Amino acid sequence: MDMPVFRLYDTLSRTVKTLVTLEPNHLRFYSCGPTVYSYAHIGNFRTFLEKLIADGHAYETPTGVYFDTTTFARRGALSGNTDADSLRVAVRDVVVDDNKKSPADFALWKKDEKHLMQWYSPWGWGFPGWHIECSVMAMQYLGETIDLHGGGEDLVFPHHECEMAQSESRTGHSFCEHWVHTKFLQFEGEKMSKSKGTFFTARELIDDKGVHPLALRYALMSVPYSKPANFTMDLLRDSTSKIDRYAECVRVVNEALAKGAAGEDAVGEDLDRLYQETLAAMCEDLNTSVALAKALEGTSVIFRETALFSGASASSSQKFLLKINELLGIVPMDEDTTEPGRDDSEIDGLVKERDAAKANKDFARADAIRAELGQRGIELRDTPEGTVWRRKSAEI
Ligand SMILES: [Zn+2]
Repeated sequence: MDMPVFRLYDTLSRTVKTLVTLEPNHLRFYSCGPTVYSYAHIGNFRTFLEKLIADGHAYETPTGVYFDTTTFARRGALSGNTDADSLRVAVRDVVVDDNKKSPADFALWKKDEKHLMQWYSPWGWGFPGWHIECSVMAMQYLGETIDLHGGGEDLVFPHHECEMAQSESRTGHSFCEHWVHTKFLQFEGEKMSKSKGTFFTARELIDDKGVHPLALRYALMSVPYSKPANFTMDLLRDSTSKIDRYAECVRVVNEALAKGAAGEDAVGEDLDRLYQETLAAMCEDLNTSVALAKALEGTSVIFRETALFSGASASSSQKFLLKINELLGIVPMDEDTTEPGRDDSEIDGLVKERDAAKANKDFARADAIRAELGQRGIELRDTPEGTVWRRKSAEI
């Protein structure tokens, strides 16, 4: 099957449309992230500003250099917001300056001799306006026209509106025709907040709470980017069990590959279909929730067959898991859960004792051993070849 076309919602045209690149197999993608206080060379800003002023899109006042919003015809194209008053209210870095031509005009350069970060410019000491950093970096590294521009939903207005205005006024042609914005993430139904203790960094969840990094990734992908996501501890627990399931899948497939039993491929066809359905969901506006569900169906197909797994089935299963991992990055492919130097002989002994108890119909003892191991984070699975055990992920 051919690769399906990749379609993505575009904030500018307000439609889901095919992502077209200027060059084949080369995506020029710029995404606004957190401000990292690292700037492109200051000379780049000068060049950018030097041109805007010359063309009449920007002007200088005693407090800075401002973009003249009335000179840009596409103003409001992204957000639909063209009202000067709301612009004035919404612009985060609004500067009150009676010399500004319109309250909506935004700063390209701020004159300030006392600011923490400052550079010398043709307009004296100061620093660049926050919108211009992105325009300058995107153009410096990706060219005057880029294929895709992304960021959080809060950046549509005014940040991206301003980026577009200043960039297109500088070059005279389109800056970007495909814009993608992700919805906010909530925690337990509320905005994440440091004061309420509902604000976590990825590092805190992984290092302090022992969350598997892939479980975090799975949880974050479980709601498509275009819908507001509610991040809950239940979701994280559920995602952890999904990652455990993949880990178990990898283990049984590897085991079957090593055995290489004769027999037909009983899963290849189903797994190919499920992979294509997963890919199709990703290509249709990155529908990650459908993609994850289709991929997970694949694990059911694999587990359905494991009791009589042939080498051929195992090989198709491995191919499926590798391709799903390439697409979604959620399969712990080569995770070695054995810790160097750890002695598992006691656990092996208890598992053997439980098997013997079962054989003697001493189910009370067998259940007690299972419960004891369960408390120690050991999960047992009865297979036709006997009992296998594994360590569960840390409880969240
Ligand atoms: Zn930006």
